[in-house]
Amino acid sequence: MSINKDIAILGAGPAATTLAIRLCRQGYKVVLFATPEHAPILVGESLVPMIVPMLQDLGVEQEVATYSVYKPGACFTYHADEIFQFRFDETPSDLPSYAYNVPRDKFNKTLLEAALKAGAKWVERKVVLSRVDETDRIALDAASLHAAAGFWTGSAPDLIVDAAGRVNLIGRVLGIPMQPGPRQDVALFAHVDTTELVDSGYVHNDRMDQGWCWRIPLPGKVSLGYVVPESYALQHGNSAAEQYDNLLKNDSVLRQLAPHAQRLTPVLRFNNYQSISARHCGDNWVMLGDAGGFVDPVFSSGMLIAMHSANQLADTLIQAQPLSVYEQTIQNHLQAWFEIVGFYYDGRLMSSIKVGMDMPDNIVNRLIYKWVSSHISRIFSGAAASHPFSLQLLRFLVTYGLKQSNPAVYQIK
Ligand SMILES: Cc1cc2nc3c(=O)[nH]c(=O)nc-3n(C[C@H](O)[C@H](O)[C@H](O)COP(=O)(O)OP(=O)(O)OC[C@H]3O[C@@H](n4cnc5c(N)ncnc54)[C@H](O)[C@@H]3O)c2cc1C
Repeated sequence: MSINKDIAILGAGPAATTLAIRLCRQGYKVVLFATPEHAPILVGESLVPMIVPMLQDLGVEQEVATYSVYKPGACFTYHADEIFQFRFDETPSDLPSYAYNVPRDKFNKTLLEAALKAGAKWVERKVVLSRVDETDRIALDAASLHAAAGFWTGSAPDLIVDAAGRVNLIGRVLGIPMQPGPRQDVALFAHVDTTELVDSGYVHNDRMDQGWCWRIPLPGKVSLGYVVPESYALQHGNSAAEQYDNLLKNDSVLRQLAPHAQRLTPVLRFNNYQSISARHCGDNWVMLGDAGGFVDPVFSSGMLIAMHSANQLADTLIQAQPLSVYEQTIQNHLQAWFEIVGFYYDGRLMSSIKVGMDMPDNIVNRLIYKWVSSHISRIFSGAAASHPFSLQLLRFLVTYGLKQSNPAVYQIK
């Protein structure tokens, strides 16, 4: 691929701004096209340790730490008396032993400011895209080109990056299919004043009567979201707010976890978010972050995939490699997360962890358990999907390591 240095990025979320910072540092001319965010709250608040070195590289970790909650681990509750806790500092790893729970509006602002400081230009408008004749090329509308005039070396960008999230701008224009995931859940999301917490920094994942919920401690409040089958949500009302509030009162698990919770925000609802684009790049375009695919919120992998793919794309462009190299890496990463998430929903992941925990206590078992758990903990740190050996080991464990256990005990309905 020739070295294209005039770049248009659609969107100003974490994928867009991470890419912008990396490319500006190498002398690229980057224009971000996006309007200010209007949603009252944004999902993507729980980060994993693998993101921390990225924040350090972008020079923003200290600022992020000032308004975020320090996250030392994660816990998964199946019954009131059965809670699996995973602390990032308990298993040896080359990654930091912590992450953050971030208010997303502030996090986006920090990254956008860092991108502008690095030299990117922000054009406050939504572009209109079109296909160029019968080709695989995309064009920006004249008004958008006019708004960026003089910033690029040429009159139009060499590369258009769709980082506008799940609206999937380029895929819609070119008619590129999205591969749906196996689950057809809905997610209902709001902030509340308080819930019970196992640890004031953990991301909490709890199995509900049907589906599961997250509790993410944020400064002065808790993000509480449910991921449930659509039929279960519909039993509790028509609007998102009715469903959210009624589930809070009626689901037996939520009643225990958040008995005094008062909702502080409107309720946002998400459907059909498990999907991967059939293509990620073309002649003069590429998809980044959620625009190319998103798997499931359960392991807080979305922000990692968004920022990791931004770094992968930056490396690909800077090293003048074909975009197909980037495409293959991203496809592999997304497919790996699909598989890992599947082990969570069918109960095999927790079942195999439980078998490991219940092994007779002797020196050999302790060594085996320590070694295996260092690989399993890579799921919770975000690294498993990009470490082939950890993924292989996980596949082995959930296939052959279940002994007499019954994965249905940990299945998510
Ligand atoms: C229910 C749910 C819970 C989640 N929880 C977590 C979590 O706890 N942890 C985690 O890591 N991930 C989580 N995620 C995923 C995470 O939110 C996303 O993966 C992440 O935000 C993707 O970043 P992005 O930059 O690709 O897209 P986004 O963050 O969506 O950013 C896209 C940007 O593009 C802008 N835009 C939209 N349309 C246009 C347009 N036409 N032109 C220009 N700009 C446009 C938007 O305003 C936005 O600013 C969750 C997802 C869901 C659905």
